[in-house]
Amino acid sequence: MAMPLLEVRDLRTHFELEDGVVKAVDGVDLTVSRGRTLAVVGESGCGKSVTARSILRLVERPARIVGGEVLLYGDESAGDPEDLLAAKDRRLRQVRWADIAMVFQEPMASLSLVHTIGDQIVEAIRLHENVSKAVARERAIEFLGRVGIPDPNRRVDSYPFELSGGMRQRAMIAMALSCRPRLLIADEPTTALDVTTQAQILDLLQDLQEEFGMAIMLITHDLGVAAQVADEVAVMYLGEVVEHGPATSVLTKPKHPYTQALVRSVPRLGQRGQDRLAAVRGSVPPPYERPSGCRFHPRCDAFMAGKCDEIVPVRVRTDDIDVACLLYGEGER
Ligand code: SF4
Repeated sequence: MAMPLLEVRDLRTHFELEDGVVKAVDGVDLTVSRGRTLAVVGESGCGKSVTARSILRLVERPARIVGGEVLLYGDESAGDPEDLLAAKDRRLRQVRWADIAMVFQEPMASLSLVHTIGDQIVEAIRLHENVSKAVARERAIEFLGRVGIPDPNRRVDSYPFELSGGMRQRAMIAMALSCRPRLLIADEPTTALDVTTQAQILDLLQDLQEEFGMAIMLITHDLGVAAQVADEVAVMYLGEVVEHGPATSVLTKPKHPYTQALVRSVPRLGQRGQDRLAAVRGSVPPPYERPSGCRFHPRCDAFMAGKCDEIVPVRVRTDDIDVACLLYGEGER
């Protein structure tokens, strides 16, 4: 069994607004194993991105992390892990990039417009490693080439606005990888890109993962992307993980009715034109209206009256999958 690199336990991040509290992340449990890829999937608004940002404490007011643990294990399997939620700010700055790097959907949100790509990568490297500017620049050029940016010796002096969307995303990945992180968190890294560039970036991430042995936590709403790259899949609904297991099991024999509906909504090769795709029934409820019992119950085809609307399911192990659904038992509270 793969060793854990990061364990998220009972993570809770709430938005404290004038009209009430929105529990965007409400008791998330996740494990990312060393050198493996975990895809976190679910519809928009289910808390995937807030979970990712909470891991590195990148949430800003009115969001607030109100509970849980984010345990980062050291290089050796022995020894106690470090809780990043309890770490001092200085320590957290060391962890960012050096241990855990993050790539966002829109690289312009993370890149400075007034500095060249090269200067930004050099700064990120030198923040964590005691190397000269010349050495860091050499590495920046090397990584820009590795991520498929043509003529990296020249591109290193480009500003972000001089690059296409695909090239900016590659530059962002180069910046993340140049610090050789143990975990890359990629939040919808290919959503804004065309299909060809998307395939190239996913291939690139897999190649680099193999080479550097890093783990990847991929946030995506696209089950096709998850099927392509993930070793494990965690399915989120309304701020919690409802199903977690090996990608081959979760995506081909899902247990939770929500995952089953998501899988049915993905077009399949060979599907005939007149076959209608089944969408997940209903929509994600407004943030202040959290259903009682199982949060998925108003949309669930397997709803059991008097049970699903009253009892909050906890995750139980069924075959090789952990699932939070009363069809598989109530579990221990
Ligand atoms: Fe559906 Fe009930 Fe399972 Fe929730 S607990 S997913 S409502 S069957």
